[in-house]
Amino acid sequence: ALERFSEIRDKPAVSKDGTRINLLMNAGLLADLPSLEGSGAEGVGLFRTELQFLVRNEMPKRTDLAQQYGRVFEAAKGKPITFRTLDIGSDKVVPFLKPEDEPNPALGWRAIRISLDKPGIMRMQLEAILRAAKGRPVNIMFPFVAQFDEFKDAKAILEKTVENELRLGHVIPSDIKVGAMLETPSLAFAPNQFFEMADFISIGGNDLKQFFFAADRENERVRRRYDTLNVSFLTFLEQICERCFEFDTPVSFCGEDAGRPLEAMCFAAIGLRTLSMRPASIGPVKDRLRSVNLAEAKEAIKEACLSGDQSVRDRMRKWYADHVA
Ligand code: PEP
Ligand code: MG
Repeated sequence: ALERFSEIRDKPAVSKDGTRINLLMNAGLLADLPSLEGSGAEGVGLFRTELQFLVRNEMPKRTDLAQQYGRVFEAAKGKPITFRTLDIGSDKVVPFLKPEDEPNPALGWRAIRISLDKPGIMRMQLEAILRAAKGRPVNIMFPFVAQFDEFKDAKAILEKTVENELRLGHVIPSDIKVGAMLETPSLAFAPNQFFEMADFISIGGNDLKQFFFAADRENERVRRRYDTLNVSFLTFLEQICERCFEFDTPVSFCGEDAGRPLEAMCFAAIGLRTLSMRPASIGPVKDRLRSVNLAEAKEAIKEACLSGDQSVRDRMRKWYADHVA
């Protein structure tokens, strides 16, 4: 199988019926970067910036961050990169920023909520990203946005930071796209203006699923109880895609499930055109996508959704085995 994956490494992920899917990789450590070449990823769809904060016991310096982000740009060699601003709290505990114990950390003071309450940290981080870009284009996204105003406020902080950089005489990126992670069901129902304002939306399936089913992603007793290919969740994902299409807002999926071939096939069938995953998953997912007719897969999913089954998994696994393998 490894040989087969390396054979298709430099080939695009195009389905049998000609649909092109963009496969990106998730990263967070400088050690992940060499995979950019080897995996066949077309860019970094999610760079988790919190890891540089998690491994220290004091606030990193802007110059150190800028240097590290600079290495990400170098490694990408012109391929697109999406930096996610600090996503801490909940499962990601940063000792020097640790809030008082919270009864429900996953529902607590985390991610964009911390950034908006302590904008100094986000500004410092944004400056590091902007300087590291050295004029190259960059995508920046905010994690865990639950309502339109949070996105507006975060975007305003970014715009002010850019203005300030210009005033200080720094080069700014030739293009800055600003997106939101859709990780709470509420954002799927945000006003139209949110979808118009966002340059792109990335579905954080790990969190979105936990909140959709009210099942803690860290709790072994419940986390596998609800299938990603559950009819309710898949229908929800399809509706999110449709809202994005309505406003021409690019939408991607960057949770762990994007790296599983059956899930990736179903996501592409319901309309997702960009998937971001751990580098080792790109080969197997590309192999799967290149072997299916997505329009037929979409029909099969529709049928499976009407069957009364809780999840389309069994039917889609069988469909794949019968029609393709
Ligand atoms: C997600 O929630 O799906 C996601 C990609 O972010 P993280 O796993 O870092 O919370
Ligand atoms: Mg998340």
